[in-house]
Amino acid sequence: MVSTRSTTSDPGSGPTSASTGIFDYAPAPESRSVLNLRSSYGLFIDGEFVDPVAGGSFKSISPASEEVLAEIAEGDAADVDLAVQAARRAYTRTWSRLSGRERGKYLFRIARILQERSRELAVLESLDNGKPIRESRDVDIPQVAANFFYYAGWADKLDYAFPGKAPRPLGVAGQVIPWNFPLLMLSWKIAPALACGNTVVLKPAETTPLTALLFAEICQQADLPPGVVNIVTGAGETGRALVAHPDIDKVAFTGSTDVGRQIAKTVAGTRKKVTLELGGKAANIVFDDAPIDQAVEGIVDGIFFNQGHVCCAGSRLLVQESIAEDVLARLKRRMTTLRVGDPLDKNTDVGAINSAEQLAKIRELSDVGEQEGAGRWSPPCDLPSNGFWFPPTIFTGVTQAHRIAREEIFGPVLSVLTFRTPAEAVEKANNTPFGLSAGVWTDKGSRSLWMADKLRAGVVWANTFNKFDPASPFGGYKESGYGREGGRHGLEGYLRWDAS
Ligand code: NAP
Ligand code: MG
Repeated sequence: MVSTRSTTSDPGSGPTSASTGIFDYAPAPESRSVLNLRSSYGLFIDGEFVDPVAGGSFKSISPASEEVLAEIAEGDAADVDLAVQAARRAYTRTWSRLSGRERGKYLFRIARILQERSRELAVLESLDNGKPIRESRDVDIPQVAANFFYYAGWADKLDYAFPGKAPRPLGVAGQVIPWNFPLLMLSWKIAPALACGNTVVLKPAETTPLTALLFAEICQQADLPPGVVNIVTGAGETGRALVAHPDIDKVAFTGSTDVGRQIAKTVAGTRKKVTLELGGKAANIVFDDAPIDQAVEGIVDGIFFNQGHVCCAGSRLLVQESIAEDVLARLKRRMTTLRVGDPLDKNTDVGAINSAEQLAKIRELSDVGEQEGAGRWSPPCDLPSNGFWFPPTIFTGVTQAHRIAREEIFGPVLSVLTFRTPAEAVEKANNTPFGLSAGVWTDKGSRSLWMADKLRAGVVWANTFNKFDPASPFGGYKESGYGREGGRHGLEGYLRWDAS
C-alpha cells in the first residue's frame, strides 16, 4: 500500500487519504499568484467600497489552514439601510428604465468577465471555502458564468417567457446566501433578479464573503450602474436586518430550514415576495439492475462532492438488499482512493470542512450515529493537523429512526439503508420532512419514470447525481422550501403582472 503524503509546504496542504496501492500522486498545487487579495474589504454600496457606519469587522479564514485571508467589514442595520436606499435609487432612476436588451448587455459583459477571471475566482473560492480546486475550477465557476449567460439571454425576452402577462420587475431584492457554493449561489440570485429589471442587496455568508467582493469588483469593471448590485457582508444579524428592511420587495434566501422558518415569519403579512431554498436529506436509490460501477461513482459524487456540503447531497443511500453487499464492497474500495487534503492541490477529491462550527456539527451527529448502533467506516486517512477536516464516512445498518437518517449532516457522511421492493424504496425515500432531490439507478427507463412520479422531491436524477444546468429549475417540496430557481421558472420569483 502506498500512502500519498503531500510534500508541499503550503499551509493547509497535508497528507491525503488515498492508498491506491497502484501509484502515488505528486503534489500539484494551484498557484495563488493569480490573486490580488486585499488585506481588508469594505461594503459594496452604490458602486463603491465603503466603510461600515459602526466600523465593525470580522476575519475570513482559509478553513484548510486557519490562515486569516482578509479583514471584512461587518454591516449592520444602518449599512443595510444605505444599501437598500442605493438599490432603490438605482432601480427607479436607471435599471428599471433600461430596455431588456440593454440590461442583457450588462449581464453578458459580466458573464464574459467571469469567464476571463475564472482562474482567479476558482482559487479564491477554494481558499475561502475549502472546496477542491478541481470542483471550483470545473463546476462552480463555469456554472456561475453559465447562469449569467443564460439569464442575460432572457432579459429582452420576458414577454415571450410569459406571453400576454406584461411582466414587470418587483423593485429591490434582499438576498441572503450560504457558504457551500458562495459564488454559484450569488449567481442563482443576482442573474435572474437583474435580468428581470430588479436591483439587489446581497449578503454573503460570514465564512465565505471573498468571491462576492471580487464579484463587486467585476460589477465595477463591467461599468454596471452604481447601486444595481450592493454587497453587504456580515453575519446572521446583517441578514436579519436585510430581510426585515421595510423597503425591499423580495426576499430570496438559501440556507438552513431553521433560518428559513424565521424569515417566513418575518415577511408574513408584508408585501414582500419570498423564495426559500432550504435543507435536504436526499435518497440515492440503487436497484439491482443498475450498472453498479457507475452507481458507485454516483454515490461517491452524491455525498463526497464539496465535502457533502450540498443541500441536495445524496446523503441516504437506499440500496436493494440483494446487491447491498456487493455495492458496499465496491463503495469502500472506491473510497480508499479518495484523496483528502489541500483544496488548492489539483489532485484533491475532498477538501476542508468549511468551519470549526460545521465540523463540530458533523462530529456530533456522527457520534450519535455510533451511539444509536449504526456501523461506522472510513478509509485509512491521515488528516492535516491544521484546519478543519473530516474523513469520508459511511454508516451501515442505519434504520429510519436513526437521527443520521433523518437530520441533515451537511458533511461527507453517508447513511446506508436497504430495501426489497420499489414500493418500499419510495416509502423510505419519502419518509423525511425534506424534499429537495433524489437519485434513481436502474437499467429500466420505465422504472425511473415510475419512481420520479412517486418521489416527493424537486429534482430527481436518473443514473446520475448532482447535475445542474442553468435552464433547469431547482427547488424543494415540504421543508426544503418553496419557489424555484433556475430556468424560466426562476424568472417568476422576480416578476409581477398585477396592476399594482
Ligand atoms: P444558515 O445558517 O441558514 O445561513 C444562511 C445564510 O443566512 C448565511 O448568510 C447566514 O449568515 C444568514 N443568516 C443566519 N441567520 C439569519 C437570520 N436570522 N436572518 C437572515 N439571515 C440569516 O445556513 P448555513 O449553515 O450557512 O448553510 C447550510 C444550509 O443551507 C443547509 O441546511 C443547506 O441544506 C442549505 N442550503 C440549501 C440550498 C438550496 O438550494 N436548497 C443550497 C445550499 C445550502 P451567516 O453566514 O453569518 O451565518
Ligand atoms: Mg472563509
